[in-house]
Amino acid sequence: MKIRDVEVFQVQWAPEDNPAQCSAWVRVQCDDGPCGIGEASPMQGGLASLGIVKHNLAPTLIDKDPLDHAVLLDTLLHTFVKLGPEGALTRALAALDIALWDLKGKLFKQPIYKLLGGAWRKSLPFYASIGGNGERSLDEVLRVVEARLQDKPAAVKIRFDNDRTRPDIDILGDIAKARAVRRLVGDHFPLAFDANNGYSVGGAIRVGRVLEELGYWWFEEPVQHYHVKALGEVAQKLDITVSAGEQTYTLAGLADLIAAGVRMVQPDIVKMGGITGLMRCVALANAHGVELVPHQTQPTIGHMANLHLAASQAHATKPCELNDPSPRMHAVFENPPRPVDGLFPLPQAPGLGVQINEAELAKRRVPIA
Ligand code: CA
Repeated sequence: MKIRDVEVFQVQWAPEDNPAQCSAWVRVQCDDGPCGIGEASPMQGGLASLGIVKHNLAPTLIDKDPLDHAVLLDTLLHTFVKLGPEGALTRALAALDIALWDLKGKLFKQPIYKLLGGAWRKSLPFYASIGGNGERSLDEVLRVVEARLQDKPAAVKIRFDNDRTRPDIDILGDIAKARAVRRLVGDHFPLAFDANNGYSVGGAIRVGRVLEELGYWWFEEPVQHYHVKALGEVAQKLDITVSAGEQTYTLAGLADLIAAGVRMVQPDIVKMGGITGLMRCVALANAHGVELVPHQTQPTIGHMANLHLAASQAHATKPCELNDPSPRMHAVFENPPRPVDGLFPLPQAPGLGVQINEAELAKRRVPIA
């Protein structure tokens, strides 16, 4: 069995979407078998990662055995490491890893979670991840949270997405929004607060103390992600769980976060290593008694890959992230992922369990130069 072709393309969900708003997909085809589909993080449409797949990675995969995929991808990581292991290259490898797991599942006629050793749970709760709250008025924040509660999430995370070059820009405003959301949902509903790297250490501790008083579940990326020691300092000074890791692209980087004192890490399946990479992260977190709660913002392929990984994880302490509940990407799937009563059923079909509507995909597919 050999890899015959690696397709690399963007998916343009609506005619008005510019390239930066498209998804970044790959598809690996065997000579005598099914194909597997994968997705890279779509930062700027994933164009940097798709270019690396097309021009550097795909040519070396042709005629290789897809069941050697971990060896193949680790070889590629080390061959092309100077292209930038902190981002574009690892996102490219993540897309290929997911596609090769999908392919492997189809070859063995098993869902991926079975190949990972089985599922601890077959229905997975999710949390509503709500971005853009730094720019919204307090009332607008409340209206958006109210709307997302209708999907029956197990928790809500409010993200601030402020200008990263202007830390501590509106600490009092952020605190007021955190208080208002707590009042809206009541004392017992689980809430999380994502600073998106928006504070200094002092600012983060000030906000974190209020989040503790308000009973928030976790406090995400309080300071710049590259200030690993500072993240650890904030985590150690606060009682609330401080999390980070969505901008960490290597296992060694994750180990540095843990060593600094971060006790909840959030690697992302479409950014670092795909399913294989996340399984390694799970082992690392388990070895250190650290929570691993994957970051995940892509609502279709990335989400499905994450469900298999999360279901196979023994010590899952938080629900899966669901960023965008919009159905605008559903047309390309025969079975788009949808929650039922606040739970995502674990896909049971071979591989990822996604069935592509090829005619609809063809209308939206944008080739990569
Ligand atoms: Ca985040």
